Amino acid sequence: MSSYAPPVQRLVTELSKLPSIGTRTAQRLAFHILRASEEDALALADAIREVKERIGLCEVCFNLTDQPRCRICEDTRRDHGLICVVEEPGDVIPMERTHEYSGVYHVLGGALSPIDGIDPENLRIAELYARVTSPAPGQSPISEVVLATNPTTTGESTALHIAHELRARAPEVTVTRLASGLPVGSDLEYADEVTLGKALAGRRSL
Ligand SMILES: [Zn+2]
Repeated sequence: MSSYAPPVQRLVTELSKLPSIGTRTAQRLAFHILRASEEDALALADAIREVKERIGLCEVCFNLTDQPRCRICEDTRRDHGLICVVEEPGDVIPMERTHEYSGVYHVLGGALSPIDGIDPENLRIAELYARVTSPAPGQSPISEVVLATNPTTTGESTALHIAHELRARAPEVTVTRLASGLPVGSDLEYADEVTLGKALAGRRSL
């Protein structure tokens, strides 16, 4: 039973839905928001509303964007013949931080996990094959696909599945996987840029 006024309880409930926020942290954050100036508190509420209203997925790579295409896909200085495949939009950020990658991305929206009901058709895998086998008019052909799914069981099996399918559909395209050295079982999101940069530089053919 909560002794908070209902609006406070509602805020605590909503905050505790965030990842790694338990009830006590949610209460602490709620009291912080209550103490904050009206301006700061409403800026937070507005920022949440704005991302939900304005941010969608890039029509080419499925990265987050407030335009039809993300800034990376629109950047003509990048190598559009090199595609790095990642699980989540959040994985693009650590790859960019390495400053070693100049290609474009393809965000799958997760990893294959049949036990959880996540099959190829639940991810943006068909869209990847379409990009590789029939590049848009005027676009350079794809020379390499780097599979940068997480070094976890599901990430590895996703990489193997895609590599196998790409070999059948586009044998002329080189398919590589980030080198080992990334902590096994961890997420790309948490890799430091030096380790990730080395894993990228040492990527191997699959
Ligand atoms: Zn894009």
